[in-house]
Amino acid sequence: MISNYPIIPITEWGEYKTHPLNIAGPCSAESELQIMTTAKELSETKIIDIFRAGTWKPRTRPGSFEGVGEKGLRWLQNVQKDFGLKVTTEVANAKHVELALKHQIDFLWIGARTTANPFAVQEIADALKGCEQGVLIKNPVNSDIELWIGAIERIAEAGITKIAAVHRGFYYYEKSKYRNMPQWQIPIELKRRFSGLPIICDPSHITGNTHLIQEVSQQALDLNFDGLMIEVHCNPNKALSDSQQQLTPQEYSQIINNLIVRLPESQNRQFIDVLNELRSQIDVMDDQLLEILAQRMNIVRTIGKYKKENKITAVQISRWDEIVQQSIEKGMCKGLSEEFIIQLFKSIHQESINTQTQVMNSEHSKN
Ligand code: PEP
Ligand code: MN
Repeated sequence: MISNYPIIPITEWGEYKTHPLNIAGPCSAESELQIMTTAKELSETKIIDIFRAGTWKPRTRPGSFEGVGEKGLRWLQNVQKDFGLKVTTEVANAKHVELALKHQIDFLWIGARTTANPFAVQEIADALKGCEQGVLIKNPVNSDIELWIGAIERIAEAGITKIAAVHRGFYYYEKSKYRNMPQWQIPIELKRRFSGLPIICDPSHITGNTHLIQEVSQQALDLNFDGLMIEVHCNPNKALSDSQQQLTPQEYSQIINNLIVRLPESQNRQFIDVLNELRSQIDVMDDQLLEILAQRMNIVRTIGKYKKENKITAVQISRWDEIVQQSIEKGMCKGLSEEFIIQLFKSIHQESINTQTQVMNSEHSKN
């Protein structure tokens, strides 16, 4: 189902600069000096549209810095006044919304841990009814697109029209080069399901470090995301939260200025012809891929019957390890990434197990 709510395109949100929308600022508001210094240096880059800072911080473990609370909102008002910037902060309950509205915070964002909780999102939505503020909704920590869509719908149903989804990556149980896996297919599917919904990428929480931010930001722009939300601190080494992923304003400005902004479409006839030809080649290959996968599953079915006759389990871990190892080596020689090969084979393996257990338990082939 495609959701249809009257969502305003980012380009009509206000007097913003050109695409992409740039949101930047520290993970947390820590002191008035830290906020004002970071905002001043960021406003001097002439890049940013919206200044971010968390005043209530949801922390995984107790005892970490949990934010300065309401006084941080007053510092954000000073940022509005002194630098003419719009500001945003995180809200996780009705009380936060009430205080943020009282301090005229322009945009409220809903954090990844809150999006995962429909009761909290509904409470926030109810508290937002009738207000003009914009709302940014981060993806839930787990890769559940329905939960993300549900949160967006709750906010849209409260009458908010300046809405954007923020892609900050997903928790993944295995070690990876990212703090949170991007799983780009999920925000792409969200765009397909939610027509006209702007999507902003948060490369800081995806990467968890500073050296991959450029690469992830460029990927987001290449996928036609509408903006970037990046953590920037005047002195990252001293930051009270997420210190490893925060950039200095200088580093931020360098990264943003090096990004290449491409157009989503072209009118050039020659370009369109070449693209169409390449796409036809891809279509042919996709058909071949499907054909070969179907043939592979036929063999899997035969193996399932054979294992059943011999009372052998569907899964043999050593055989699986061997397939993955061999495929990683072969695939990497052909320029495929390790991450892709593992994902691909996991998915094929899962389907093979499903097929084999079906064969083993079907009435027709019972011994
Ligand atoms: C943040 O933006 O600092 C934050 C807490 O993010 P998330 O909810 O994505 O973890
Ligand atoms: Mn953070």
